[in-house]
Amino acid sequence: MTTAFYTHPDCRSHDMGLGHPECPARLDAIDDLLIASGLQSALTCREAPLVDSTDLGNAHSSGYVAEIRDVLERVAADGRMRALDPDTVASPGTLNAVLRAAGAAVAATDAVIDGEVANAFCAVRPPGHHATRGQAMGFCFFNNVAVAARHALDVRGLERVAIIDFDVHHGNGTEDICAGDERILMVSIFQHPLYPYSGAVPLGDNMINVPVPPYTRGPAIRALIEENWMSPLDAFRPQMIFISAGFDAHRDDELGQLGLVEADYTWITEKVKAVADKHAGGRIVSCLEGGYNLGALARSVAAHLRVLMA
Ligand SMILES: [Zn+2]
Repeated sequence: MTTAFYTHPDCRSHDMGLGHPECPARLDAIDDLLIASGLQSALTCREAPLVDSTDLGNAHSSGYVAEIRDVLERVAADGRMRALDPDTVASPGTLNAVLRAAGAAVAATDAVIDGEVANAFCAVRPPGHHATRGQAMGFCFFNNVAVAARHALDVRGLERVAIIDFDVHHGNGTEDICAGDERILMVSIFQHPLYPYSGAVPLGDNMINVPVPPYTRGPAIRALIEENWMSPLDAFRPQMIFISAGFDAHRDDELGQLGLVEADYTWITEKVKAVADKHAGGRIVSCLEGGYNLGALARSVAAHLRVLMA
């Protein structure tokens, strides 16, 4: 069985303007390295479909889904960029990008549950983990991972899924959507204080939040993961694991001040994969979140994929 790689050219058409770190070139950097390294030929590459509104509504309020669709349709029609928050700008290509990004996560979930592939990585943008039930923020519109996790539970009938978030920023949107949903265990590690300045106090018993100070490096982060994530994950016995795979905790990334390197992403992925192999039949769907130093992003994604493909 292979690893699926979901992406779509529409994910490059979302453009928040010159100099914005969450830029289309991020996906080009990943593609270039996967081709140059030969990894791409061993992946099952699939085009991301458009997500259904029903799936979006399992994670977001129906009013929010309608409002975002309306705003993005108007921007697509009149061609005028519109800021939804100071960091989050809609361009004419944003509508299809957000529908493909969430659609990738849902399609990957189906492919993994149906046993077509062992696991999957979604190379999509915009990212999703800051999008709350009713608010776009922090480069995010729809919460791709939360939408996929709810699809696994509400549509595919799984009873327990885990969400792992190792982006340098706290996944406040995922926490907002999933806190109190006892079918979900979310474990995360993030720099604190840092945007969005939340997460120090978890919002539910099903949230394992590990805030770490700036300049924390790989060995300390590995020890904190070992100490805080592993036994709750083992006790929870997830039937499937979703990863909010942000690579902006890399030491070369300027949006955060943590010190992870490629070998740390390999190690984290191996730890998650061991839990998936033990409890979940290996089922993992990983979705790209942050990662803004193009070289570090591409190398870290390759390290992550090598473990998923092993
Ligand atoms: Zn981030």
